[in-house]
Amino acid sequence: MPRYADMSKAELETELAAVRALYDEMVARGLSLNMARGKPSAAQLELSLPMLDVLDATADLAAEDGTDCRNYGVLDGIPEAKRLMARLLDDEPENVIVLGNASLTAMYDAMVRYLLFGALGSEPWGQLGEVTWLCPVPGYDRHFTICEALGIRMIPVPMDEHGPDMDEVERLVAEDASIKGIWCVPKYSNPTGITYSDDVVRRLAAMDTAAPDFRIFWDNAYAVHHFSADAAEQDTVLDIAIACREAGNPDRYLKFGSTSKITFPGAGVAAVAASPANVAEIKRHMSAQAIGHDKLNQLRHARFLDEGRKLAAHMARHGELMAPKFDLVCRRLGEELGEAGIATWTNPRGGYFVSFEGPEGTARRIVELAKEAGVTMTGAGATWPYGDDPADSNIRIAPSLPPLEELDAAMDVFCCCVKRAALEKILA
Ligand code: PLP
Repeated sequence: MPRYADMSKAELETELAAVRALYDEMVARGLSLNMARGKPSAAQLELSLPMLDVLDATADLAAEDGTDCRNYGVLDGIPEAKRLMARLLDDEPENVIVLGNASLTAMYDAMVRYLLFGALGSEPWGQLGEVTWLCPVPGYDRHFTICEALGIRMIPVPMDEHGPDMDEVERLVAEDASIKGIWCVPKYSNPTGITYSDDVVRRLAAMDTAAPDFRIFWDNAYAVHHFSADAAEQDTVLDIAIACREAGNPDRYLKFGSTSKITFPGAGVAAVAASPANVAEIKRHMSAQAIGHDKLNQLRHARFLDEGRKLAAHMARHGELMAPKFDLVCRRLGEELGEAGIATWTNPRGGYFVSFEGPEGTARRIVELAKEAGVTMTGAGATWPYGDDPADSNIRIAPSLPPLEELDAAMDVFCCCVKRAALEKILA
């Protein structure tokens, strides 16, 4: 099949008729498949079931420092959980605060604290006329929701395979003091799957910002989520903490992470790692909010993952389940859409998503067509602030949840919808 761009009107019309007939057949199949959210599959969740046996009524429920994990206390986490989360966040245990079950809550709380109290003595951001945040796009919809809910203005910044467009970021932060920070998913980014280059990390750490209390929210949600256990096939990212210290901006970053996609989403352990000054500030504010978090869960995780020493082996088993799904998605996209020349997509080495770029002005139509045919995708526009993708071209594909056979069926539908929407657009 030639590229759509090289086909005559008559050829395109014939192709559209065939694609429409195929689509009708697919609708008649009555499918009900979901590729909307980055949830681990049932098989992945089973990998962590033995963790539930780590603590039973006969287990020693004291942390190594003697803390009774059944009782109140310990605001910043038991020592063994700090070591586990330090491995995950690529930091030292003394810089880590172990939190509750979700890093998203930690990010929301951090933002609210800055709005209410300022950052290390600066004026509370909520008292300023305007607070602005940089949002690399395509990005994670829930980050954008936090900003929107808190009245923070968002500026999208384009991403390429190395990370955010740093020329643009540097230009914006240098001239606008209302820009207080940036969202970063530095490794296997959501949704592009790319990992920030060393140069991008160094420039983020060193750039001149008009706001002296500028913060990088470093959401390393996919820090250890490789598809291959072979180090040569894994991405690595420079440590933002070291880069910020070296650049003379030691307080510029907050690192976030959790075990959500390592053990159980919603029942994992989250943490933040930061400079000593930031850690002290967070603990001071947090002491009014909480007595401590779930230490039994911290203990369970620390023991199950052997304080992080078993992380690589555990994640290799996740990778074995994820790799065939991503292979399938990329292979099917290539087979179905490669020759038509109407789309591009990412081919990540880890994480949870493939980012798909269709022809301009078709993403909403594709998602709508897929829905009618029983395949739920992430909403078009979700990867942009305010749900507004100006090109209406980006779609996040989340292949983790469905079993392989279902994924294959879902990709049939998706590719058919892409072709139909593209042809309709060209012929309109
Ligand atoms: N950050 C990113 C980039 C994510 O993709 C996700 C989940 O999809 C989260 C955070 C949510 O993490 P948690 O479960 O720790 O709140």
